[in-house]
Amino acid sequence: MSENPHLLPAVSSFLSSPRQLLIDGEWVDAKDGQTFATVNPATEEVLVQVAQASAVDADRAVVAARNAFETGPWSKMTPRDRSHLLWRIGDMIEERTEEFAQLESLDNGKSLESARGDVGVAAELFRYFAGWATKMEGTTIPMSVPGRDFHAYTRREAIGVVAGIVPWNFPLTMACFKIVPSITAGNTIVLKPAEQTPLTALRLGELLLEAGVPAGVVNILPGFGDAGAALVDHPGVDKVAFTGSTEVGKKIAAGASKSLKKVSLELGGKAPNIIFADADLDAAIAGAALAGFFNEGQCCVNGSRLYVQREVFDQVVEGVAAAAKAIKVGDAFDPAATMGPLVSQEQHEKVMGYVRGAVADGATLAAGSPDPAADNGYFFAPTLITGVTEQMAVQTDEIFGPVITAIPFDTEDEVVAAANNTVYGLAAGVWSRDLSTAHRVGSRLRAGTVWLNTWHADDVTLPRGGFKQSGWGRELGSFGLDDYTELKTVIAELR
Ligand code: NAD
Repeated sequence: MSENPHLLPAVSSFLSSPRQLLIDGEWVDAKDGQTFATVNPATEEVLVQVAQASAVDADRAVVAARNAFETGPWSKMTPRDRSHLLWRIGDMIEERTEEFAQLESLDNGKSLESARGDVGVAAELFRYFAGWATKMEGTTIPMSVPGRDFHAYTRREAIGVVAGIVPWNFPLTMACFKIVPSITAGNTIVLKPAEQTPLTALRLGELLLEAGVPAGVVNILPGFGDAGAALVDHPGVDKVAFTGSTEVGKKIAAGASKSLKKVSLELGGKAPNIIFADADLDAAIAGAALAGFFNEGQCCVNGSRLYVQREVFDQVVEGVAAAAKAIKVGDAFDPAATMGPLVSQEQHEKVMGYVRGAVADGATLAAGSPDPAADNGYFFAPTLITGVTEQMAVQTDEIFGPVITAIPFDTEDEVVAAANNTVYGLAAGVWSRDLSTAHRVGSRLRAGTVWLNTWHADDVTLPRGGFKQSGWGRELGSFGLDDYTELKTVIAELR
């Protein structure tokens, strides 16, 4: 790897030796000795070799997680002690913000500022769920049986061993989305990070051991889809928590159904962003650019389908195009750059293919270019496309890149029908100064999250998840914790 003068010694040291799997509190090689390279998408250089888990390693990790759940100290730890430990980990992450941010930027490509934000979310997740560890309460429920007396109540209990499988767009926070609620509720977990971005999850593994998380409670298996599939098939796994594409989500659901494992799925999206003519257009234009381009557009809730009321269409297109052109694409370590590269060559080719396809079909680029933004690195200029029809692939498929399509509309009914005309239902947005319009249209949109006069506003307290083919279940907030517990009903007869 070429010299990067900005790297912290801790980051250089982490990258100086091959990384291993975390199984049962130990760092170990894959059983078959396989490794894979993780690459900096800004330079295409190999960062470090990483052990590649196979089905055999998945089995070792599940056995460790099962032992830790059945016999280890974890399930016997008091909720208060678990809470204190979780809070401490949140502090430890925050103290290492720059280290985690550098690793994330190197592995994923995102800007350092963006990566720092992700580290903040990761720390906050530990603190938020630290509070829940002592509040997993049940209820007492009256029973009506004439002549007999009962005491009935419910308990929230851990499910057992969780398999967490996550994508590459927010590697650290996605890992925490699975690990934190799992262990808060007393489960143990085997986490498989995405093959493109394993590093921050592995660094987190080191921190968890240092903080005192017992062996086997959190196991981390970098590897490819086969390792994920082995976890889904494994009889020792009780629940699969997956974030990723709808295509793989369907495979997960099919695999887990063989033994009726619990499954939660956070899948793809194709979010409609609707701007009415009476909106605060400055805010709406800035919001539309943020919706489409944040995190290089590699967000499940990316506002990729922009619908603008006809009388302000040209003005909004001009504004979003100007915002796109003002974004400086470059290496995360370039302080002037606000957008990094896409995560991989494969992703770059995919996004480029969609834009070229749209142009070939007669669409127009108001901003962007169908060609690579640089010779080296997977950079892609933020792109705004007009002249699009509802049938074009660029309009129907999740692209997962910095690409917005803009279509004019006339009436509310017309735009609601167009917005809902998708298999996805993850997020949607409405911009209007008329609160009645905003709330009414928001209620008509079939999506798990609806933003009114804002986009990407978020908090660990808020449940998130998808309608339709965007997923099953909800993550975060108290609803998110419920998905990591079983509800037990206890009925005692008072004699
Ligand atoms: P992906 O589905 O290709 O991969 C996700 C994870 O699944 C990776 O760890 C991968 O190795 C693993 N995997 C692949 N095949 C598998 C199989 N057969 N069995 C088990 N595991 C397997 O997704 P990606 O390209 O990494 O991420 C992008 C996708 O993630 C987009 O569709 C995006 O919308 C979605 N996403 C959704 C959310 C959400 O909250 N809804 C958040 C982030 C990303």
